[in-house]
Amino acid sequence: MKNGCQRPASPGTDAPRHHCGLFGICGDDRAAELAYLGLYALQHRGQESAGIACSDGKRILVHKDMGLVSMVFNDPSHLKRLTGRCAIGHNRYSTTGSSNVLNAQPLSVEFKCGQLAAAHNGNLVNAAELRGHMEREGSIFQTTADSEIVLHLIARAAQGPLPDMILEALSKVVGSYCFLFLARDQLIAVRDPMGFRPLCIGRLNEAPVVASESCALDIVGAEYVRGVEPGEMVIFDANGMTIRRLAESPRRAMCIFEYIYIARPDSRIFGQMADKIRRAFGRRLAEEHPAKADIVIAVPDSANTAALGYSEHSGIRFEIGLIRSHYVGRTFISPEQHERDIKVHLKFNPVTGVLKGRRVVVIEDSIVRGTTLRNLIRLIRGAGAAEVHVRVGSPPIRFPCFYGVDMSTRKELIASSQSVESIRDFIGADSLGYLSVEGLLKVVPKPKDMCAACFTGDYPTEVPVDFKKEQFDLHRTGAI
Ligand code: SF4
Repeated sequence: MKNGCQRPASPGTDAPRHHCGLFGICGDDRAAELAYLGLYALQHRGQESAGIACSDGKRILVHKDMGLVSMVFNDPSHLKRLTGRCAIGHNRYSTTGSSNVLNAQPLSVEFKCGQLAAAHNGNLVNAAELRGHMEREGSIFQTTADSEIVLHLIARAAQGPLPDMILEALSKVVGSYCFLFLARDQLIAVRDPMGFRPLCIGRLNEAPVVASESCALDIVGAEYVRGVEPGEMVIFDANGMTIRRLAESPRRAMCIFEYIYIARPDSRIFGQMADKIRRAFGRRLAEEHPAKADIVIAVPDSANTAALGYSEHSGIRFEIGLIRSHYVGRTFISPEQHERDIKVHLKFNPVTGVLKGRRVVVIEDSIVRGTTLRNLIRLIRGAGAAEVHVRVGSPPIRFPCFYGVDMSTRKELIASSQSVESIRDFIGADSLGYLSVEGLLKVVPKPKDMCAACFTGDYPTEVPVDFKKEQFDLHRTGAI
């Protein structure tokens, strides 16, 4: 999955990778420090790079680098330098653009209207087309990130107040985006007309706060006010808060994967608590795919909440059967160790006392390639489990995502070419059951407003030309 933003090759997992995390605040002397805290809470949305841009009313200063928030701001001087009352922050996982510091955000430019910094979560479907067109006209890009295209479009827009220029620029892009823009004296938050990615508004005393997830409001002590509506632009400046609107979209397409995996369970996403929805996925999964078993365990941490739901509905006791290490960074291991699945073992260790002799239901939130799950099942069997029944809290992922989650080709998705029975065989489970698309959509409020394209192939926008060609070739060869 892409950026939007990638959980960097998370050692030992093939989990879907994420988006980016956004945080903004305007009207507090501690703006940079609060942005830093907000980025900490949003670290799960991107661990490749982090950065903060802060305006003191005269100029915008930026500090950004590769790595986790704690690594990028590892010296008190980094934050001290960022003086001012308005700031935006960004955690990145690259879905477009390579992994290097040039692509770290916020991006900052100087153009005809002065300084502007931007932070983006999402993925522009027509980025290649727009960029190609601008390059042919002589534009020079400093990064390979799709986000920079929007800055170029703003610079080319007819001169006017900044919000007008941003609206004109965004009218040319297709895809998913939440943007935070920081000008000398303005913070502007925008969500695309289909509303793919979440963005919410809070308040800390009198200062407005904007964040990808409400857990970032909690950490700074801000109160949740509401979500930014799809197609809404919210401008915070000396006049208070002003609302503008992008062109209306005929449909909405909020990413259902936010509920399945991406968002923290303690966050409010699209107006709902992620924990509540994820637990309901687990209950529904138990209804659709019961199992005769002694215990339910989760692949931690992302499947914990669905596993609780499964346990609740089935009456099978929930146990902690796998311990996850949170301290695994990049690892350099020999090919022999590779074969022993050491990467998975570095990250997860089975609890023998819990698993030995038991019939175990293992709850996973989703399956991308299936390789991690196969290795995990070997570990669970190695710890003495009598039977292993895998239940997945989402339908089979058959189609790539073009909207900021890093599953960009069909080839890497095991369910795009394999039946459920072949996948069961590949991962080595005694049985395998996925939540159905109907079940998934039944759980969420307003299912028609959700995107579930990676499960159904029903894309809410035009798709990139390369993908259309790939589909055509697969059809032609009879592969699908
Ligand atoms: Fe989310 Fe899947 Fe839609 Fe991508 S295709 S936005 S991951 S639901």
